[in-house]
Amino acid sequence: MEHEIPLSAPDITEAEIEAVAAVLRTPRLSLGPKLQEFEAAMAAYVGVPHAVGVSSGTAGLHLAMLALEIGAGDEVIVPSFTFVAVANAVRYVGAMPVFADIDAATLNIDSKSVEAAITPRTRALIVVHTFGRPADLTSLLPIAERHNLLLIEDACEAIGAEIGGRRVGSFGDAGVFAFYPNKQITTGEGGMVVTRSADVARRIAALRNHGRYESDPAGIAQTPESSGSWFEHAELGFNYRLSEMQCALGLEQLARIEEILARREAIARRYCELLGGDSNLILPAIDLPDQRLSWFVFIVRLAERFSQADRDRVQRDLAAEGIATGRYFAPIHLQPAYAAWRQSARLQVTESVAARALALPFFNRITNEQIERVCGVLRRVLQSVR
Ligand SMILES: *Cc1c(COP(=O)(O)O)cnc(C)c1O
Repeated sequence: MEHEIPLSAPDITEAEIEAVAAVLRTPRLSLGPKLQEFEAAMAAYVGVPHAVGVSSGTAGLHLAMLALEIGAGDEVIVPSFTFVAVANAVRYVGAMPVFADIDAATLNIDSKSVEAAITPRTRALIVVHTFGRPADLTSLLPIAERHNLLLIEDACEAIGAEIGGRRVGSFGDAGVFAFYPNKQITTGEGGMVVTRSADVARRIAALRNHGRYESDPAGIAQTPESSGSWFEHAELGFNYRLSEMQCALGLEQLARIEEILARREAIARRYCELLGGDSNLILPAIDLPDQRLSWFVFIVRLAERFSQADRDRVQRDLAAEGIATGRYFAPIHLQPAYAAWRQSARLQVTESVAARALALPFFNRITNEQIERVCGVLRRVLQSVR
């Protein structure tokens, strides 16, 4: 069913359409100058020396695992209150995801729960900046250091978020971004891995391209296929490349990221103004000392007295009024694909929050009238539930 007010919608300008079309008039549609430009722009934006474009955020997580040599016999601590790709990437390399609980106020992984999950087999920690709110790296970095753990930042929901003036993605051994259409900036499909390590970057660049190491960094070959190394596959690789058309779109979107983040923050503020003071709802924090939030989605939680069935009813009632909402997130450890983890995971906060969370329509081009309509209908529906 087509909703009158969608949950999310891409924001593509005419200039962006033209930039993609311009690539199509050139002979280089993959592994060309736009990839190099987009990688350089992302590295500069995040504040790290290296960035490698890949076909999705999930591909980026997978290659980060491989490049950091995480594999069979290793445990990796991850949140369950997040997108399934986070735990899947751990399983792709034969390692074991171990779920930690979240903090009820920030919805990010809880440092005490992380410490409790550490065993002699723990190799790494994947920290997700959930919904664009920076995770508690002030606590988590020292824990990783003390236990000699690799730290991977999943910044797929948090491009532009900052801690102490430094952008997320730049703190860990690798950081991963994603450009699916519902993210702050999009390339349709796409992702980027950032890192301070030249070795990790080189390895990821090879693994995304069938295991080919670049022998032609100066670009003497006219096309990648004409370089001497095109049929040299140093290790088992993948096709996780990002096309030139995608990179052209990403470059244009990144060029106006500040405008995009400012617009999204204004939408979040408007929602908080209109919904503030309603005791049926728990709203996200807006102003964080020493941190910058990058608004990915706008999530409200029904108050503790409501049940999951109440939340589901609110969602249905809103849908009947033409308003689309989302259930962010169904915990990973409760998914059928994770049946083997269900018994071992005791994640009270994750389960309680997930049962009462609701994502409201949130996209750059949402109008003030649409925001007002969503809030009016939501308030009315909540009153009828209890
Ligand atoms: C979007 C997202 C990803 C990557 O998603 P893709 O669809 O593979 O690009 C990874 N982790 C989190 C937390 C995300 O929100």
